[in-house]
Order: sequence, then C-alpha cells, then structure tokens
Amino acid sequence: LVPLILLVVGLLSLAATGQLRLAKKTEEVEDLKRVDGFKSSGSNRNIVEHMKTTGTKLVVFFGSQTGNAQGLASKLAKEGQSRFGLKTLVADVEDYDYENLVDFPSDSVAVFVLATYGEGEPTDNAVDFYEFLTDPNTAFSSDRERPLKTLKYSMFGLGNSTYEHYNAVVRKVDQSLETHGARRLCATGEGDDGGDKTTEEDFLSWKESLWQSVASVMGLEEREAVYEPSFDVQEEGSTQAEASHVFLGEQNSLHLRGEQRGPFGAHNPFLAPVTKSLEVFTVKDRNCLHMEFDISDSTLAYQTGDHLAVWPMNADVEVERFLRVFDLWDRRHTVFSIKAAQQGRDPFPTPTTYEAAARYYLEICGPVSRQVIDILAQFSPSPEVKAAMTKLGRDKDHFHQEVTGQCLNLAQLLETLSPSQPFSKVPFSALVEGLRRLQPRYYSISSSSLLQKGTISITAVVESRQVAGAPDTRPLLKGVTTNYLLALKKQQEGEAQPHPHGKTYALEGPRNKYTSRVPVYVRPSNFKLPADSSLPVIMIGPGTGVAPFRAFVQERAEQARLGQDVGKTILFFGCRRKSEDFLYEKEWEEYKALLGDKFQLFTAFSREGSEKVYVQHRLAENADLVAELLQHKAYFYVCGDAAHMARDVSDTLVRIIAEKRAIPPAKAEEVVKSMRNSGQYLEDVW
Ligand code: FAD
Repeated sequence: LVPLILLVVGLLSLAATGQLRLAKKTEEVEDLKRVDGFKSSGSNRNIVEHMKTTGTKLVVFFGSQTGNAQGLASKLAKEGQSRFGLKTLVADVEDYDYENLVDFPSDSVAVFVLATYGEGEPTDNAVDFYEFLTDPNTAFSSDRERPLKTLKYSMFGLGNSTYEHYNAVVRKVDQSLETHGARRLCATGEGDDGGDKTTEEDFLSWKESLWQSVASVMGLEEREAVYEPSFDVQEEGSTQAEASHVFLGEQNSLHLRGEQRGPFGAHNPFLAPVTKSLEVFTVKDRNCLHMEFDISDSTLAYQTGDHLAVWPMNADVEVERFLRVFDLWDRRHTVFSIKAAQQGRDPFPTPTTYEAAARYYLEICGPVSRQVIDILAQFSPSPEVKAAMTKLGRDKDHFHQEVTGQCLNLAQLLETLSPSQPFSKVPFSALVEGLRRLQPRYYSISSSSLLQKGTISITAVVESRQVAGAPDTRPLLKGVTTNYLLALKKQQEGEAQPHPHGKTYALEGPRNKYTSRVPVYVRPSNFKLPADSSLPVIMIGPGTGVAPFRAFVQERAEQARLGQDVGKTILFFGCRRKSEDFLYEKEWEEYKALLGDKFQLFTAFSREGSEKVYVQHRLAENADLVAELLQHKAYFYVCGDAAHMARDVSDTLVRIIAEKRAIPPAKAEEVVKSMRNSGQYLEDVW
C-alpha cells in the first residue's frame, strides 16, 4: 500500500507542478502582452470551446521564432478559407491549453507548423507545448487509452539540414501525437532552410497533399479562390500622425509613453546606448563592426556566450520605394489602425502610419514569396502585369531565375514589372499578410560578462555584396541590420550622411527616442564555457565566428589574472589575409600575456598561399594536441558558418578521433555524437 500511496502522491504533485508551470506561463504571456501594447484579440484558452463558438473547422497552430512559421500558418488558414470556404483559425501554441486537445472535435482538423531552433530546440512560444508532449510523465497522463483519438492532424516543420537536429521538433511532436492515438492525415512536410533554402518550395508541395487529404476527409469541394482580408485596416483621417497615442515605430505602449521598464525581451527591447562603435577591419567593399552597448541602466543581464538581439530599421530608399510602389507615398503620414479579422494577434502596434509600418514594422527588404506574387497578381495595375505575375507565381524555375536568384525584394520586383503604374489596388491587409514583421537579428556576444558586466559587445560583418549572376547595374545586396549599424557608427564618428552606398536611415528613431541608442535584448544560450575553468577548451571560429571566443578568451584571461586555475585554451581562427581581416589581432597578444602558454592561437589565412587553408586543415595538422586535450575532457566549440565550415570541422574531428584512438570511423562518429549529447561539443552556427 505504501508504494501505491507514494505513487499517487507523486503523480498528484507532478500534475500540480504542471498546473503551476502552466499558470506561471500564462501569467508571463499576459504580462508580456500587456507590455506589448498589441494584445491578442481574444482570451479563451480552451481551443475546443473557442472552435465551437466560432464554428472553426480547421486550426493552424504555429511554433515560430522569427515569424516564418507564423507566416506559413497564416497563409494556410487563409487558403483554407478562400479555396474551400472553411472556417479557419491561426493559433499561437502558447495561447491555448493543450490538455484540451483530448476533446478535439472529430469533424475538424488541426495543422501544426513548427520550427526547430538552435540545437534541436522548440521556439520560445512552443517550449511548454513541446515539453508537455514529449515528456512521457506529463503528456496527457489521463487514464484514457489513446487520449487523442479524435484528433486528425497534419504537420509541417521548418528546419535547416545543415544542423545536426534537423526538424527535430516536428518529428518528435509528430511521434508523440501518433503515440497518443491522433490520426495523421498526410505525410509530415519538412522545410529546409539550409543550402539551397527550399523552405517555401517544400511548403508549397506539402500543402497540396494536405488540401487533398483535408478535402477528402471533410468532403469538401474546391471553389474559385476569393481574396478575403485577414486584417481590418481603418484609416483615421482626422488623427494627426504626431498625436501622442500614435505609434511612430515604438515597439510597445511603454516605449510610446517614453518609459523603459523591464522585463526586457522579445516584446519589450531595451533602448541601449551605443558606447563604442568601430570598424575592426575595412577593405574595399568589406567591413566588420565592433559595437558596444551599455546595459548598466537596465535590468538586462547577460552571461558569456549569450546572444544579443538587435532591432533594425529599413533604409530610407527602401521605405520610399515600398510606399511609392503601393501608391501610399502621398498618404505616408495617414494614421490607421489594424486588427486581426478573427481571433489572433494584431500584426504590429497601431494606430500607426504607413511610413512607420514600412520603416519599423514590416520586413520589406526580405526574400519574396512565390505564393504572395500569385495572390497579388489579381491586384495588378494592368492585364500584362497580371500575366507576368501569374507566370512568376506558378512557375517555380522562372521565379527562382527572375526573383530569388536576383535577391529582389517585393517593391524592387514590382517596380521592375510595372515601372510607370503603381499597384494602387493592393489592399494593405494583403501586404501585411504577405510580409513578415521586421525581425531582430541575433549576434553572438563578443564580451565576457565577468570582465564587462554592464557592457555588451558584438562583432558583425556588414552584409554588402554583388548578387551572383545579376546584371552589373543591379545595386549591391545590403543587409538590413548591419548597414543600419554601419550608418549609426558613421554618424557617431561625425561623418556626413549619406553613407558610402547612398543608404540613409532615420537614425534618431521614432520621436528621436533612438538618439545613439539601439533596441536590443539578451537571448540566453547554452553555448557556455565549462563551469570548471581548469578544463581545457578547443574553439573553432573563423571570421565573425570568433565573436563568442573573444568573450571566452577574455573571460579565461581575467580568471587567470584573478589567480584561478585555467585550463588549456586553444583557438583556431581563420580569415582571408593577415593584413586584411584578422579580427582582434592585437588583443590576442594581451590575452596571451595573461594566460601564458595556456593560450594558443592557430591561424588559417585562406588567400595567402597557393592553396586555400581553412580552420579544419589547421585542426587536422594539430591532431595530436586535439586528441590529447580530448583525453583530458576538453570542451569543443564551433562558431560561424553553418553551411560548410561546421560540417567540415565535425568530419575532421571524427577523422582525428578515429586515427588517434585507432577505432573505425563509425565508432569515432559515435564518440562525437555522444560529446554533442553530453554538451561537450557545442555549436553556435548560423
Ligand atoms: P539581412 O537583411 O537579414 O540579409 C541576410 C541575408 O538574407 C542576405 O545576405 C541574403 O542572403 C538574404 N537576403 C536578404 N534579402 C534578400 C532578398 N530580397 N532576396 C533573397 N535573399 C535575401 N553575424 C555576425 O556578423 N556576427 C555574429 O556574431 C553573429 N552571430 C549570430 C548568432 C546567431 C544565433 C544567429 C542566428 C546569427 C548570427 N549572425 C551573426 C548573423 C546575423 O544575425 C545576421 O543574419 C547578419 O548580420 C545579417 O543581417 P542583416 O540584417 O544585415 O542582413
């Protein structure tokens, strides 16, 4: 009897902890939404009740970090409505209590669009959902057999095949739903953002099989697609743009009131003063920035190895192009409000103006979606333009050649298709549906929190390049964030605008709130030095991949100065030429002075000799040292390019282990795998 009582008590306490966790999460979410200034338009957390009251037959849940999964979820829900007349709903997984899925109506369908982030982790909004579903102790621990037997579902994952844990989240959730008795309607789709970046094409082909199975199981007939706006856009003709309640780019209502109050995070960035900005190298068309942000006047804190999220703004030239192409230039200061037509998040804070939306809230420079072009074709200014857009929207290869391959943004493409007539008929809602919200970019923090607690450094290479295969007349492809930061740096140095490539920015921000400040927040990461400083570390960081390792070496140098026992600290750094882009060249000498022979730096300059030499070559040359340090429990870190370098380094390490331990390559692979699983091999790659 005693073990039984203990078991019951254990189960009850588990359930209670689960409830507490849920309650806490709900509180946090509500707190953030309050701070956010743009609430979700409903508050019923019971998805089944909500479906019943609204007559919803298809729910698209999303787990999204950067807005991609959310964008695809919205597109699906919209398509369900326009093609089949289905009542659909887009649902953020964190807005609902997933326990209610056990009562999911058997005449309805749930679709899950879930991104995998970092080392196979769920996105922030899907953490609880994922943990609940994949933890055998908590997931639907009711006494029902096959608790999800009424749930019909389909799934699409967003991942990157250059990462070890490709689409791990969608695979695990899929498995768990099936184990709990849910019925999968069609094969799970997997979008791949690695290498050739085929996510949108993967999505487009998967969704056809989804609609086929949904139509068959629900007995639906396809109809001629009719555009129905997902957002109600109301212009407020009598409101002045300067009115104090109008968002002119502020991220939330606190910012609007001019307050800076924590908790700081994805919905509430801190406007951090830029205390230092310099170019750590500048050659021809390439430059790399080192920027420092003062967080001492905030509740923000960081640990060595964390990431800094930086909010950009769009350049004047792109804002103007966008507003002119959609015939909004003359109305750029007109105030409007925007609300989700059904339950769901409002896309950005309003009331606002078209100019503020284009500058601060919408990702107007990013890659164009083929599906969006197909949808916008119906609002073309002429039949010829409509035909050209329809062709682009329906022909994958033609689209790739003319649009993606040329790195055009939406307004650049439409301007080329119709140089003299603007796209006046496009509803603003269609633009908001077709574009993502402007996203922060992440940077590996390049300072040690032990040494500079109140100041965060980042090291960012400025994205500026000729698009391969594009005509010479095509302007350079300019990264949104890094060029904004470069302009800010030039302004701080007193250089006159415009900066070299003619891009100017509203650097003072909305209502001059940004003067020498940038909206940021810290995103914790598990890319950390071992807690025991005496353990050896091996770091591989070519290019800006060296950013977190500057922080690691700084930290270890400081620990050595404080008299702590510091283990071997080995860094492999690579760049083109010693004289060109050798990052922090002088600083390494300072750290060497403190760490002595504990610190060794190996360099690979790829364009100096007759043969290209990369970090993985240097790693192989030092196989004895690497093998010996691994015997002493060295931690192995890789940071930088995910597409090639990270894989080459991993393969090299497998070869080193196989050779030095005289074991077969398959066994060496197992060793590396178990290092990854135990957190002894860590990657911070992008
Ligand atoms: P974006 O405007 O975002 O453009 C980036 C790329 O997107 C372009 O090069 C191009 O390939 C593509 N693209 C953009 N527009 C189009 C278009 N219209 N059509 C087709 N393709 C297009 N970077 C660093 O320099 N240092 C770091 O320490 C660092 N750490 C990172 C850590 C993490 C965890 C992650 C995820 C990324 C990190 N990055 C780092 C990369 C960084 O976040 C940004 O991606 C990078 O600075 C480019 O941002 P951007 O806004 O300037 O460029």
